[in-house]
Amino acid sequence: MDPRNIQIHDCEFSTYIFEEEIIARITMLAEQIDKDYGNKQPLFLAVLNGSFMFASDLLKRVSIPCEISFIRLSSYQDMHSTGKVKEILGLTEDIHSRHVVVLEDIVDTGHTVHGLLKQLKERSPASVEVATLLMKPDCLQHQLDIKYVAKSIPNDFVVGYGLDYNGLGRNLRDIYKIVS
Ligand code: 5GP
Ligand code: MG
Ligand code: MG
Repeated sequence: MDPRNIQIHDCEFSTYIFEEEIIARITMLAEQIDKDYGNKQPLFLAVLNGSFMFASDLLKRVSIPCEISFIRLSSYQDMHSTGKVKEILGLTEDIHSRHVVVLEDIVDTGHTVHGLLKQLKERSPASVEVATLLMKPDCLQHQLDIKYVAKSIPNDFVVGYGLDYNGLGRNLRDIYKIVS
């Protein structure tokens, strides 16, 4: 596919991961989740806003019985992680003794997922795993075992497929990286 450059706010981005590759990788994750969870009836918790497209494309390919719900955390400012522990908003399900799978858009420093897992584990689920669309292993600052990763990427700021740059870019069907 032809590379494309776009402008979002003050920055230029170029195509990086095309929809076709994203879907192929997500399809493999869904197959793995089907195998791993069988009849455990997992509860998927998609972290809004960034994971909405990933959650949709992943969960329509998961064929085991499951529940799906959405949570929200305090927002991420500009391009740098604030490092603050974020509160879980909108978790109405009782996750005690449930098999929980958190759906995230991207794991960067890992602060967000680390804080989220800590809060979820206090509610005594049977298990908690994380499925993330993207991961930046070079940026990780916590010992985190992320079981499902669609793709690992270098330390570049990306937008599209749910990920935004100051509010814009979530609707893009491909993932773009910043041109530096
Ligand atoms: P962490 O707490 O792991 O450092 O960062 C997690 C959050 O930072 C993600 O959920 C996402 O909102 C934001 N983030 C980290 N890296 C990127 C990136 O390259 N692009 C965008 N759009 N958001 C990012
Ligand atoms: Mg996120
Ligand atoms: Mg954001």
